[in-house]
Amino acid sequence: MLVVKKFGGSSVANKERIYNVVKRCIEDYEKGNDVVVVLSAMGDTTDELLEKAADISGDAPKREMDMLLATGEQISVSLAAMACDALGVPAISLNAFQVAMHTTSTYGNARFKRIDTERIRHELDARKIVFVTGFQGINKYDDVTTLGRGGSDTTAVAIAASLHADACEIYTDVDGVYTADPRVVSKARKLKEITYDEMLEMASLGAKVLHNRSVELAKKYGVSLVVLSSLERAEGTVVKEVTKVEQMLVSGVTADKNTARIAIIGLNDEPGIAFKIFNLLARKGINVDIILQSIGRDNKKDISFTVAQTDLKDTLKILEENSNVINAEKVAADEHVAKVSVIGAGMQTNAGVAAGMFEALYNVGVNIRMISTSDIRITVLINEEDADKAVRAVHDKFIPED
Ligand code: ADP
Ligand code: ASP
Ligand code: MG
Repeated sequence: MLVVKKFGGSSVANKERIYNVVKRCIEDYEKGNDVVVVLSAMGDTTDELLEKAADISGDAPKREMDMLLATGEQISVSLAAMACDALGVPAISLNAFQVAMHTTSTYGNARFKRIDTERIRHELDARKIVFVTGFQGINKYDDVTTLGRGGSDTTAVAIAASLHADACEIYTDVDGVYTADPRVVSKARKLKEITYDEMLEMASLGAKVLHNRSVELAKKYGVSLVVLSSLERAEGTVVKEVTKVEQMLVSGVTADKNTARIAIIGLNDEPGIAFKIFNLLARKGINVDIILQSIGRDNKKDISFTVAQTDLKDTLKILEENSNVINAEKVAADEHVAKVSVIGAGMQTNAGVAAGMFEALYNVGVNIRMISTSDIRITVLINEEDADKAVRAVHDKFIPED
């Protein structure tokens, strides 16, 4: 059997944790399995690297940021391979170059294009445990790229798909996917199974337990994922195409605080304005989420929308540089907002979820600023300070206690 195991930052935060991870990998190896291990940077390393960069420059080139951030994962894999060696089991660490993990060229937000499997296979054939750096790739210029925060999950799934692995296990600091972040909602329940589609919505809307692109890739290539604890031996959550268990109306509630709202006020009320604005942003790779347009008055209208808070600076810069094309009276930004969402495949056939959500928010005095829906989710934009309270209220409303 070929197993891909991924361990996140807190699971390799110090010497004891690294040995714990390595011993779990050796258990698998000693059963005769081929074991590939994807690791994240130790503990808060990535955040610390970001702070170092900010200390040097407020506007560091994106290429150099990736060069810096990718170092974190290289520390983890080399130390893990050393620990393995110290325990008498052959191991090797490989970075994105050595494997050849090819990505698009967008620094900070690259996507996998192709992963060469030859080197990994060669090392597995030599009966080594192979430790691979998560989160990084190489682009057509032979530069280092990174996949976006939390991207090591995506590395694991991409490698599992490329190697046609029999299992892809994501080990983290919680023992599975819950109906809400268990650190915010103490009554949150662990899910035995969840569909790719529901998990994709949850991951895209703030449940950082899995990187959203990892779920996208898992669905595309039919990789069955398991999310489990690196410290306890509890049964985890399986992410797959269809779930056997009875479909719940709501499978999860999420909050995404990495959200900012932009309002463009006093635009000419004429065809092509929305196209101009969103085309400019799309060309720079900025994802726009909830969009709201006001009803025109005196030949003027307003458009507001949300972007990731991490994209706010770039978004404002693009709007400023193109102010003559957009021709608005004013652009205003609000960083203190959050998206709260309910997700559930059962919603497709059940009316009243939206009303129930709005009622729960009303009961705790939370004001809704924008609303957006899809087949299997409802999202509201609210003030950031209300986010945790809102998640608890909505969770209480829909998820029955065990
Ligand atoms: P890792 O470093 O292992 O990749 P992350 O910090 O990226 O771990 O993701 C795990 C965290 O995700 C948990 O500690 C938990 O607080 C958070 N989380 C948010 N939503 C959920 C959810 N619905 N189920 C489980 N964990 C969640
Ligand atoms: N180390 C990276 C981060 O902190 C990637 C990851 O943990 O998945 O975002
Ligand atoms: Mg993560």
